[in-house]
Amino acid sequence: MTASYQDKGFATRAVRAGQKRTLEAEQSEPIFPTSSYVFDSAEQAAARFSGDEKGNVYSRFTNPTVRTFEQRLAALEGAECSVATSSGMSAILSTFMGLLAAGDHIVSSRSIFGTTRILFDKYLTKFGVDTNYVALTDIEDWQRAIKPNTKALFLETPSNPLNEIADLSALSALAKAHDCLLIVDNCFCTPALQQPLALGADIVVHSATKYIDGQGRCIGGAVVGDAQLVGEQVYGFLRTAGPTMSPFNAWTFLKGLETLELRMKAHSTAALQVAQWLEQQANVTQVFYAGLTSHPQHGLAKQQQSDFSGIVAFEVKGGKAAAWKVINATELLSITANLGDTKTTITHPATTTHTRLTDEERLESGITGGLLRLSVGLETVVDIQHDLQRGLDSL
Ligand SMILES: *Cc1c(COP(=O)(O)O)cnc(C)c1O
Repeated sequence: MTASYQDKGFATRAVRAGQKRTLEAEQSEPIFPTSSYVFDSAEQAAARFSGDEKGNVYSRFTNPTVRTFEQRLAALEGAECSVATSSGMSAILSTFMGLLAAGDHIVSSRSIFGTTRILFDKYLTKFGVDTNYVALTDIEDWQRAIKPNTKALFLETPSNPLNEIADLSALSALAKAHDCLLIVDNCFCTPALQQPLALGADIVVHSATKYIDGQGRCIGGAVVGDAQLVGEQVYGFLRTAGPTMSPFNAWTFLKGLETLELRMKAHSTAALQVAQWLEQQANVTQVFYAGLTSHPQHGLAKQQQSDFSGIVAFEVKGGKAAAWKVINATELLSITANLGDTKTTITHPATTTHTRLTDEERLESGITGGLLRLSVGLETVVDIQHDLQRGLDSL
């Protein structure tokens, strides 16, 4: 972080941190589309390559636009350091490739992004890293699953799609007691609503594709933490293997960070209104949103988060057929599994995001046939409600 912004408020850091004006005195951050950098002399080239002199060499290693994004995100998460990646998945891959070795073990929440689960089960296992799954909210389950070779606890909170909340302070204490790292995918809340490092997490990973962009344009990710774990170990893998962020995408995400707090507040306000309205609908059996007082972990969510984000799950009477009917009756909402966009999206988790799970795993995760997930966007709330009402009334 640029030192002068350390004592500033979140919104100030979101707009200003990491910017280093060039001699052109530009107001907005420039994009540097360059693959390599030139040196003043052979001596300087040698010094840069040996690491004796700091500075740009090649954009797989560093790029000024990407660095601005990294420094700004680190400033928002309250971290020493962040590294940007080509996607959320490559952020997770780079974290484990950088920090783990064959024979290590991961304990992960069962309620994680489906592709993360495939990464663990199909690919990390090939390199001798095994994962066991536990219930996100059951601390004893986590404790029982930890083995002598466990190196990392991995989770998302709030979870997708049911908005279960992990107790980050308790899990951080557990991780420390067993000498392993607590790694939190902070995709749903972003640092605008939740800062896991302050609650004891060691590393935060992001899919910047979601709320950090916020307008559905680019794929990207980031790993956030201290200068050793992230700045050296994860970065070391990243600059070698190469899933780095492009300067254009970094610029898009930078602009996303500038409005992040405003957008997250607006998404949260709209999502609460939609969730409260859904609770009143006759054909809705349950609404899963941590901002509702009916949510079993509303109190914990209030302690850890400054708001509840934009993801609302709800279950309709009549199983899959009814859920599909609600989706097909929409005219305004986007039928897509992406989330964190200004445009409200609706999806049927059981047949999309969670389709690869077995029937048993799906039920264990609470993904029933009648479950629908909304990512509430920034349209006028009554328009979102009317679009859902048509389908709900037809059941
Ligand atoms: C989308 C998502 C990812 C993966 O990010 P990509 O940018 O699609 O690679 C990881 N975790 C969560 C919680 C996500 O929603």
